[in-house]
Amino acid sequence: MQDCLFCRIAAGQIPSRGVYSDDEIFAFEDINPQSPVHILVIPRRHIATLNDLAAGDEPLVGRLVRVAATLASERGIAAGGYRLVLNCNADAGQSVWHIHLHLLGGRTLKWPPG
Ligand code: 5GP
Ligand code: ZN
Repeated sequence: MQDCLFCRIAAGQIPSRGVYSDDEIFAFEDINPQSPVHILVIPRRHIATLNDLAAGDEPLVGRLVRVAATLASERGIAAGGYRLVLNCNADAGQSVWHIHLHLLGGRTLKWPPG
């Protein structure tokens, strides 16, 4: 999707600080980090919201989580703890219409979120 920001970031058409890449998944530093570690893990394929996941997408979603967990280990926050967030639609604050898993960590995170 040419008009999707995260499709363009995954394709390298818009610069980002990439931290992981394979044929299905791209991960990059959030431009406005909310914690010392704030990485976005996205599928290369355009999926607008969690509501658009289809039968057969389970392995892809599982891989997003595994990539995030591996990045957490690499950043040294796995033992201390971290949070994975998937915001869906307006009430959750989704602002980019291409699903993205937030990896947040490096500080103590409050619960419940706002
Ligand atoms: P949402 O609010 O949709 O869950 O999260 C969107 C995230 O994308 C936000 O944390 C925001 O800072 C990040 N973001 C928005 N535009 C860009 C961009 O152009 N580059 C990067 N690296 N992150 C972005
Ligand atoms: Zn997209």
